[in-house]
Amino acid sequence: MIEFNQVGKTYSNGFQALKDVNLKIEQGEFVAIIGLSGAGKSTLLRTINRMHDITEGTLTVDGVNVMGLRGKALRRFRRRIGMIFQSFNLVTRTRVINNVLMSKVPDLPFFKALFGIFPKKDKLEALEALDKVGILDKAFVRADQLSGGQQQRVALARTLAQNPQIILADEPVASLDPVTAKQVMGDFLRINKEMNITILLNIHHVDLALQYAGRVVGIRAGRIVYDGPASEVTQEI
Ligand code: ADP
Ligand code: ADP
Repeated sequence: MIEFNQVGKTYSNGFQALKDVNLKIEQGEFVAIIGLSGAGKSTLLRTINRMHDITEGTLTVDGVNVMGLRGKALRRFRRRIGMIFQSFNLVTRTRVINNVLMSKVPDLPFFKALFGIFPKKDKLEALEALDKVGILDKAFVRADQLSGGQQQRVALARTLAQNPQIILADEPVASLDPVTAKQVMGDFLRINKEMNITILLNIHHVDLALQYAGRVVGIRAGRIVYDGPASEVTQEI
């Protein structure tokens, strides 16, 4: 359902970050994108929700040409795609539940969102999302009171509350210690299996990619150099 066809990306300074990318990802896959820093992992991920525009080839999601989307259609498309960052991107001075509810703001009348008036249904969904990632007991704690791993789980819950079809995660465990990193990878895997959400995740820990992802895509200098089952990765990428 995500299909890259001869995709290239040249940044406005002339740097070509992606070259001849061909990639087909089905609904429900868990794909790890691995490669050295600067290889183009983040660029690749960010073309999918149009944080960056491709400059060559075609990119489609469920048959829809992503580059053809404008205005309302683009906003609606982006709502189907959750994004997780290395740095969690939480509002740290407010409660966990409010962070999760922020994913509901685009669906609410402006004044209601402004005053934090959320329908009961949204609050229940937010609590449910926190339960899915095992931190329901932290719902009313301020976000900055949590550990890094717990904060990444809040970010994951915020994304889940948006009911995404796809989750893009850009180095989600890079700033976590090894034990916590494994727990968070386990959360991604569980969500992938239980909810059939497609997950694309950038990671520079090859061992974690092999342990949790079903498929590994290796990129080097903007080109795909490996694409196959995690169980068959043997070469250095
Ligand atoms: P796009 O073509 O996707 O719109 P741009 O080339 O306009 O992206 O760059 C977007 C932003 O990224 C600019 O503000 C630019 O300053 C910044 N940027 C430039 N070089 C780099 C780099 N090497 N890594 C990350 N960001 C960069
Ligand atoms: P990775 O995620 O694998 O570390 P990136 O996709 O962030 O790689 O970056 C790939 C290459 O593109 C790097 O050389 C980076 O400096 C360059 N780059 C990233 N963003 C921009 C930008 N906005 N403008 C110009 N070059 C960029």
